[in-house]
Amino acid sequence: MSNSIENLARANVRALTPYQSARRLGGNGDVWLNANEYPLAVPFELSQHTLNRYPECQPKQVIERYAGYAGLAVDQVLVSRGADEGIELLMRAFCEPGKDAVLFCPPTYGMYSVSAETIGIEYRTVAAGENWQLNLPAIADRLDGVKLVYICSPNNPTGNLIDPDDMRQLLEMTRGKALVVADEAYIEFCPQASLASWLKDYPHLVILRTLSKAFALAGLRCGFTLANAEVIALLMKVIAPYPLSTPVADIAGQALSDEGIALMRQHVSELIATREWLISRLRDCACVEQVYDSTTNYILARFTDSSRVFKTLWEQGIILRDQNKQPGLAGCLRISIGTRDECGRAIAALKLLPGSSVPQEQA
Ligand SMILES: *Cc1c(COP(=O)(O)O)cnc(C)c1O
Repeated sequence: MSNSIENLARANVRALTPYQSARRLGGNGDVWLNANEYPLAVPFELSQHTLNRYPECQPKQVIERYAGYAGLAVDQVLVSRGADEGIELLMRAFCEPGKDAVLFCPPTYGMYSVSAETIGIEYRTVAAGENWQLNLPAIADRLDGVKLVYICSPNNPTGNLIDPDDMRQLLEMTRGKALVVADEAYIEFCPQASLASWLKDYPHLVILRTLSKAFALAGLRCGFTLANAEVIALLMKVIAPYPLSTPVADIAGQALSDEGIALMRQHVSELIATREWLISRLRDCACVEQVYDSTTNYILARFTDSSRVFKTLWEQGIILRDQNKQPGLAGCLRISIGTRDECGRAIAALKLLPGSSVPQEQA
């Protein structure tokens, strides 16, 4: 019975491995350092009591406030159910299944491939080069038939920014052929690096943003696509009629008020201080081989025995994110910046682990 239902599903859906979100992976932790969330809840309250009415498709206050925050015009902003919906809307608007392709550069965020597979669009990968920068010649070789190039900057999970000169070269080589999508989910941790001011020079540049990370609202599900008006108008054709519920628009509007933005900036500077403290402590741990610099709210580190580290901390309720399976990231775990106390607990647990990968009994 269930087998015949399975056979009714689209072939690409049958073959699909769904996104392994931190929530799906589970765990019984009390220190959650695996989803790049802000560690504490921000106190917003609902002010709209009109749930009998359908919401606005693009709530005016949210769009106006985000446009003001990003330094853009209101017709350059689209709001959606998280940045993840933006990733998918672009594919639905620009890629013909079975004909067009998308391209991205692993190791990077997992949803580009999951969305492409779900919709049935070919995806091509060009491995990141030295220091996880773009391999531009290899990208140039593989652009034929590509409509969207997703570049995550700062990159998840490596934490580095992509060289802006390389982004310019990529934008030049794709002009008139493909859109370049800069995923700026973590840009609040390095706002000077945003490409938003480049939109006036590049009609094919798209930028993804979210309230899930620095704004501490991962549970709200609210993200933004920034692009020139022509791109936004195309996305508006494929977006659901009511993508945001009234409570989401209500809270998002408050988060984007002057006070909401000031609170976010204060959280960001606290997290950055904790991050630098955590980086220096990690470098003193025997089980840590290398700690990579970060421009974000997480740190990537390479361990002498990452599966043992992951398991030992997991058993103590400290949940990290295993990146070991990503290309080039053997032995790597990603640690989100929690409260100072949570990071201290992670360091205390790591300090007790030995340096070599040889099991202790044999050492
Ligand atoms: C978290 C994340 C997203 C998704 O953001 P949502 O708004 O929560 O959907 C997109 N891109 C990257 C790189 C992320 O890390």
